[in-house]
Amino acid sequence: MAAEAGEIVWVGSNADLDLFRGRKKLINCEGKTVIPGFNDAHIHVLSYASGLLGIDCSPASVASISDIQGRIRQSAQRVPQGTWLRANGYNEFYLPEHRHPTRHHLDQAAPHHPVKLTHRSLHACVLNSRALSLAGISIETPDPPGGLIDRELETGEPSGLLFGMNPYINEQVMPPMSEEELSQGVKLANQSFLSSGITSIQDATVRNGFEQWQTFLKLKEGRELVPRVCMMFGLHALADLKERGLRPGYGDPGLRLGAVKITLDETRGQLNPSQEELNEGVLRAHQDGFQVAIHAVEEGTVEAAAIALEYCLHRSPKADHRHRLEHCSVCPPPLLRRLQDVGAVVVTQPAFIYFSGERYLKEVPNEQLPWLYRTRSFLENGLRPAGSSDCPVAPCAPLMGVYAAVTRKAESGQVLSPEEAISPGEALRIYTLGGAHASFEERSKGSIEIGKLADLAVLSADPTAVAPEEIKEIQVDKTIIGGQVVWES
Ligand SMILES: [Zn+2]
Repeated sequence: MAAEAGEIVWVGSNADLDLFRGRKKLINCEGKTVIPGFNDAHIHVLSYASGLLGIDCSPASVASISDIQGRIRQSAQRVPQGTWLRANGYNEFYLPEHRHPTRHHLDQAAPHHPVKLTHRSLHACVLNSRALSLAGISIETPDPPGGLIDRELETGEPSGLLFGMNPYINEQVMPPMSEEELSQGVKLANQSFLSSGITSIQDATVRNGFEQWQTFLKLKEGRELVPRVCMMFGLHALADLKERGLRPGYGDPGLRLGAVKITLDETRGQLNPSQEELNEGVLRAHQDGFQVAIHAVEEGTVEAAAIALEYCLHRSPKADHRHRLEHCSVCPPPLLRRLQDVGAVVVTQPAFIYFSGERYLKEVPNEQLPWLYRTRSFLENGLRPAGSSDCPVAPCAPLMGVYAAVTRKAESGQVLSPEEAISPGEALRIYTLGGAHASFEERSKGSIEIGKLADLAVLSADPTAVAPEEIKEIQVDKTIIGGQVVWES
């Protein structure tokens, strides 16, 4: 393969390499497997970066609530009283106590520091008493729209556990990351992307707006964040970005403006936003020419997303809009067909099967299991799936995603709806070309063809040739962006 000015200009056999000998720099891949660089179609860069600086309470690092307390206690000893402590990644399902920690647990570990312990899903967190009081949350505080303040049964006092309130706590209560912290965290995140063979990322953070665009611009200019970035943004920022002249697809191959992200949940058995608000929001973004990306996990939200897309396209038909469903975790057959009819694209997270499969098998109702994180059905019904990690919800490890899409195996070895398995070639495709298609970039990314960007990953073995079990052992040897080696093992 030959590249010039960052693009692939020739693909052929070794015998023809003499055409180029002596003329150019040669990157010898030593007969290893070269694939298009991975495109992680749904991640959260800045939360990931801040998480990497925080206290790691993920299942791989802690075995109990008292381990969590120990880690927080240790950190508290290192920073002055009153400083916020950020702890991340706990998952109550994998704790032997099978319950969320409370403010009392965190108070015991750090009575003099405000503490925020964030759940792995990013949709829940636990605050200690100091943090609750800084957040102004007391026995009198009503549940905010879309949020839920868990309360102690006997006293009615907040237990510390909050659902759907992470953005509020992060933005309105906690001090923002300093520039130095941000840069330190992004450096770590960048290393993790590149060492995983990721050459493109799509940031799906709903609070993104012009401020985050500028942050990304700076990170790109300083080469602190090397993969190509497509930034989605929230509906709240639509008018502002339009006014500043940031149109759909604005930017360059390094940083590009993507879809309008809308988060849809049913925290208290009730859609938030409501169906009407969702319909209007989708229509507004669509009529402004933007692609829409709707976060929908549960069956009820997937159906609401389908209704909103039907509503929008009925009023304002458009071919090849590629409106996306992020997650689409539970998708029964009738919804599969409705999403196909409406021309939706699904952005899925096969690696959740690996990292959370054991939990799904225990907690998801039996009748829903065949519809959970489907892949084969998405492919066969023309939903053109793109693969993603939702990092930091799960590690950004595309090869783990490929492994899980092929084997449907949880870390525990249990298998989830094996009829949804796809081949290694299909799995590689959803993590490369699928991602490129989901952000309207398949003309420049996602395959090794003349005229496309020279973004590649060199693997220690061929995922389509090894035994499925071995896919998760494959190493990334090199990552190449625009013809330049940006990472080497
Ligand atoms: Zn997400």
